Amino acid sequence: MKVFVIDVAKCSGCYSCQLACKNEHVGKDWTPYAKPQPQTGHFWMKIKETEHGSIPKVKVEYRPTLCMHCDDASCIKAAKDGAVYRRKDGLVIIDPEKAKGQKQLVEACPYGAIYWNEELNIPQKCTGCAHLVDEGEVPRCVDACAHEAIKFGEEEELADLIAKAEVMQPELGLRPRVYYLNLPGFFVAGDVYDPVSDEIIEGAEITLNNKQTGESWTTKSDDFGDFWFKRLKSGQYSLDIKMSGYKPIQISDIAVDKSVNLGSLSLERE
Ligand code: SF4
Ligand code: SF4
Repeated sequence: MKVFVIDVAKCSGCYSCQLACKNEHVGKDWTPYAKPQPQTGHFWMKIKETEHGSIPKVKVEYRPTLCMHCDDASCIKAAKDGAVYRRKDGLVIIDPEKAKGQKQLVEACPYGAIYWNEELNIPQKCTGCAHLVDEGEVPRCVDACAHEAIKFGEEEELADLIAKAEVMQPELGLRPRVYYLNLPGFFVAGDVYDPVSDEIIEGAEITLNNKQTGESWTTKSDDFGDFWFKRLKSGQYSLDIKMSGYKPIQISDIAVDKSVNLGSLSLERE
């Protein structure tokens, strides 16, 4: 059974995969797997760009997104007349003939992977380039990525990567076959300085605590006075800062439901 494994840390956001998908499908008829993709409005492979934090502590995340080729696909359940089916290799296909007029399929996918083709009166989505896979080739997006951020292959062969990977929205229970490595999560960042000398403080010990799980992480402010805690899950956190010669400070309530820039934190001399 085929899977995609996408390493977000390797993705530079070059959009080559998105363009390659367009090049492979716009104006090209791959019946029985797909009718031509319209020139505009559809992104069967889409780079989602998310900005985390606030200036000057900002990170941009690029996440290639596509149909998750779910094992327990809600689109298959919502389809009439078997219009959506799973191939033996795991790729989920919308039959362009049987799916005519079945606009309900667009709403049936909680990942937003299905688009409506007004002109042809059909729902459409990523086919995993099944027409290429049949020829022993890989999907165009995989081939287009110079950074090898998107891998496609047999589940068993990619088992080591899958063991370290996550799926999007596992709580939906659809068992996606697209896995992600190195999803950035959220960060908490800031910098420390001495307001008297107006200098940054290097080497302050900074500890972040997850108040729900009890986990904690410690780092030191770098030579710009900066500190970062990355790849955090959402939750309530607290932060302690200690530095010899300065009074310790604590920030007891940090709500992390997005990345947080705490800004410049001043330490008072003892
Ligand atoms: Fe990212 Fe590769 Fe797609 Fe470029 S081609 S946007 S590096 S996944
Ligand atoms: Fe169906 Fe959506 Fe899952 Fe793709 S991501 S298989 S369209 S439910």
